[in-house]
Amino acid sequence: MKMVSIDTTRLVERTVKDQVLTAFRLCELYGHSLMEDEEVGALLQELDLRIGATQNAMSSAGIVRECADCAGNDQGTCCGVRTGYKSGSVLLLINLLLGRSLPSGPSDTSLCYFLTERGCALRARHVICVNFICQRLKDAIPHDALCKVQEIAGREIDILFTLEECVNKKMSRGALSASPASSGPDRNL
Ligand code: SF4
Ligand code: SF4
Repeated sequence: MKMVSIDTTRLVERTVKDQVLTAFRLCELYGHSLMEDEEVGALLQELDLRIGATQNAMSSAGIVRECADCAGNDQGTCCGVRTGYKSGSVLLLINLLLGRSLPSGPSDTSLCYFLTERGCALRARHVICVNFICQRLKDAIPHDALCKVQEIAGREIDILFTLEECVNKKMSRGALSASPASSGPDRNL
């Protein structure tokens, strides 16, 4: 195995599809080493737990019910096409490490790339998606309940930030072994 480094801040990603392809490339190169890394493994596990806690809190507060009704009977969805661009390849790589698959294309080109018929394809989502509280939710859900959800979601966001920093650092400092199956980051990355 050879040690390689990638400065992820210099990757050129013009479209969401570019971000997805880069995430697959990074996963091919580093996925095995990242999964074997103790620090990354612990952070992935904690992130998964905190995402679950946020989802439980959203469900208990009535947000999931409200959003399902809104999507089915009201404005359709608030997952706009521009939000899909926020994710970035390292966040998408984290989703691959969490066992999620990424869509090969958008279900609807006028909406977010990651919105599928069964909802969002991502387990780890951008802070904008995790934190978004629209006027309908403000009107329908008691303020205290929304604050509680945001407090719990804040812990998910904190751990995601720590994990992204950790993964970026390990990839950019060449601290990981590249998979022997790949020919290295100089393949158009
Ligand atoms: S966040 Fe607001 S706009 Fe978006 S689906 Fe939920 S209720 Fe509808
Ligand atoms: S929640 Fe998922 S589908 Fe909706 S905007 Fe965010 S990434 Fe896209």
